[in-house]
Amino acid sequence: MKERDILAIPGPTMFHPMVLRSLGVENMGHMSREFVEVFSKALKDLRKLVYADDSVQPVVLSGSGTLAMEASVSNMISKGDNILVVVNGYFGWSMRDILSRYPVNIDLIEIKSPGEVVDNKRILEKLDEKEYSMVTVTHVDTSTGVRHPIKELAEEVRDRNCILVVDGVCSVAGEEIRMSEWGIDVLFTGSQKALGVPAGLGILWLSEKALRRLKETESSLSPYYMDLSRWIRVMKSYEEMKPIYYATPSVNLIWGLWKSLKIIFDEGLENRFRRHKILSRALRKGLKAIGLDIMAKEEYAASTITSVYLPEGVSPYDFKREMLNRNVVIAGGIYPGLREKYFRIGHMGIMDFNDGVSILAAIERSLYSLGYGLEPGAGLKAYQDTLMSDGV
Ligand SMILES: *Cc1c(COP(=O)(O)O)cnc(C)c1O
Repeated sequence: MKERDILAIPGPTMFHPMVLRSLGVENMGHMSREFVEVFSKALKDLRKLVYADDSVQPVVLSGSGTLAMEASVSNMISKGDNILVVVNGYFGWSMRDILSRYPVNIDLIEIKSPGEVVDNKRILEKLDEKEYSMVTVTHVDTSTGVRHPIKELAEEVRDRNCILVVDGVCSVAGEEIRMSEWGIDVLFTGSQKALGVPAGLGILWLSEKALRRLKETESSLSPYYMDLSRWIRVMKSYEEMKPIYYATPSVNLIWGLWKSLKIIFDEGLENRFRRHKILSRALRKGLKAIGLDIMAKEEYAASTITSVYLPEGVSPYDFKREMLNRNVVIAGGIYPGLREKYFRIGHMGIMDFNDGVSILAAIERSLYSLGYGLEPGAGLKAYQDTLMSDGV
C-alpha cells in the first residue's frame, strides 16, 4: 500500500478532497451559465476573503503567483518611476528581479539578518527622502517565515501618492488581511498556498487608489496578456453575469477556487486565522523544546510557514530523506547562503492539529536516526501543552 504523505511544504499545500473532486466537474464552456454563476460568486467571495469593500476589484489570472507578482507592478509604472522594494527575504529580491526588466529606478531596503523584517520607520524615512510612485512589500516571506506588520505600514502610506503593493502569496487565507480598512492598494496571491487550490491561478485585488493609478498609466507600458485594464473588464462582465472574452479562463481551477472559498467560509475566517496562529505557535514551542532554533524572531513569526535551523552537522538532504521515509514532506531552505543550514515547514490551508502531531513526531524520529540526541516526546509534550493552554 502506498502510505499517505503529509505535504508540509509552502505550496502546493494539501487540498481538501472536495476541492480535488470539484476539479473533475463535467466539461463546460467558459461562457456557460453554470460557470458564469460560479465565477461571479467566486469574485464576490474573494472580496470577503480579504475584508475588501465593493470598490476593490479582484482579478483572477491563469498562471502562478509569479504572474500575479509581475502583473501587480507592470501595469502601474511609467518610465523613470522611482520604486522602493522592501526585502524581508527571498521574495523581495524576486520583486527586484521582476522590476529590473522594466525601465524604472529601483531602490532596495533590506533586512540586516534573516528572521527580521525591515522596520516600518526605515521604510517611511525612505519614502520621505524621494518621490516614490510605488512601494512593494512581502507580507509573509516564505524563505524565512516572517510576517511584516503590514497594517501599520499601510496606514502610513495610504495618504501618500504612492501605491502599496503587498505580496500575499504566502499569507492570503492563512493570515488576517483587512485590505480596505488598512489601506492596501494592490494585493496578490497564488492558488496553491493557503487558499488550498492546485497551482495555476494568480489572483490580485486592486483598491480604488490602485484603479486610479492604473488609468493614469494605462498607455505607458502595455503588456498584452497581463493587461489588467482588459482583465478588469472581463472580471466585471463575469460578475455581472454577461461574460465577455479576452483569453480563456481556467474553468476547472476557478470551479475549485469557488469550492475552496466555500470551505473557508464554512470554517469562518476568524476561526481559520486562529487555527493557523495556534498551530504555528504550538509547532514553534515543540521545535524549541527539542533544541531547534526558529529563524523568525517570535514577534514576527508567521502563522503559515516556519523556517527552522538544523542542528550542527545534520545535512538538509539527509534530514529531508529521513522525513520522507516517515511520510512527511518538508521543504529545504532557499535563503541565499543558508540553504544547507535550515528547513521549512508549511502549515497552511487545511493542515490541522493532528497533522502537527505527525510532523513533530517525524521530526523527533528523523533527528534521532541521524544521531541527534533528544528526549523522545519532548517536542510533542510542549506542542500538547501549548494546544491545551489554548483550549484546543
Ligand atoms: C510562492 C511565492 C511566490 C511565487 O509564487 P509561484 O506560484 O511559485 O509563482 C511569490 N511570493 C511569495 C511570498 C511566495 O510564497
